Amino acid sequence: MSILVVGSTALDSIKTPTAENPRLLGGSASHAGVAASFFAPVNLVGVVGQDFPKKYLELYRRHQIDLQGLQILPGKTFHWAGEYEANMNNRRTLATELGVFETFNPTLPEAYRKTPYVLLANIAPALQSHVLDQMMKPKFVVADTMDLWLNIALPDLLKLIKRVDGFVLNDSEAQQLTKTDNLLAALKKIHQLGPKYVIIKQGSHGSILSSPKGLFLCPAYPLAKVVDPTGAGDSFVGGLMGYLAQAKGSIDANIRQAMVHGSVTASFCCEGFGLTATTKIKRADILKRVKELEKIVRF
Ligand code: AMP
Repeated sequence: MSILVVGSTALDSIKTPTAENPRLLGGSASHAGVAASFFAPVNLVGVVGQDFPKKYLELYRRHQIDLQGLQILPGKTFHWAGEYEANMNNRRTLATELGVFETFNPTLPEAYRKTPYVLLANIAPALQSHVLDQMMKPKFVVADTMDLWLNIALPDLLKLIKRVDGFVLNDSEAQQLTKTDNLLAALKKIHQLGPKYVIIKQGSHGSILSSPKGLFLCPAYPLAKVVDPTGAGDSFVGGLMGYLAQAKGSIDANIRQAMVHGSVTASFCCEGFGLTATTKIKRADILKRVKELEKIVRF
């Protein structure tokens, strides 16, 4: 089954303590879409400007990502610039230039409206809701977010959270949203806002799921070297949704495996700048790391 992914389609300029790379393909929908594409067909919804390099459109196509929902408008592509500190856990946003995103109004191609799996990757929550309004009875809807929307669009975000099956956020966002630093208390409060499945991401420490079947602690795949973690969260949720879309059986039966596959897909993302490492792998590489991870955590 296919997945609809809406989110940012961006050019990212990324600086780490050892290197700097301008105008890489980035954005939440690019990372999530490529990650999901290892498992299931992806319908991409986003917007880019006329400056968007053709080679990046080719990259989407190589991953069999359907681009009917990608608008190409006069103006500049969304540009994000960020810089990492020495430990690579802390990141500072240096610039956010909205460009064509400023007036983006995602209207879905008719063919996309029945897509069963919907991933509302990080983007303004009003836009995420607007996309959801156009969907016809999706099977499973997951939304991701970022601190910016908690700061400037909380009412929109709360409206959206009520309508989704799954909500994904990182630990500092969960703390900000619920005003508690206890994970269990935070999970409980987020469930009260609506979603049946809540996933809190903890970066290199993995993630935690709270669902009707209880808790699941999902490990991160241990890496000797992190080159650039930009997009790891998006790759995680993209891989997770991709896995669910191709799995037989219920969400509850598959969601733990889905998280582990998402976690491993995110590990590849961290091994190169932007999407450079992720776009070099095959599904078999993901499955191999999943097996290794299984051995590491079994007890
Ligand atoms: P992550 O590392 O998972 O937090 O995701 C990083 C990605 O988020 C980058 O590729 C950026 O292009 C994208 N991004 C940064 N700021 C925003 C924003 N305000 N809205 C949507 N996407 C953003």
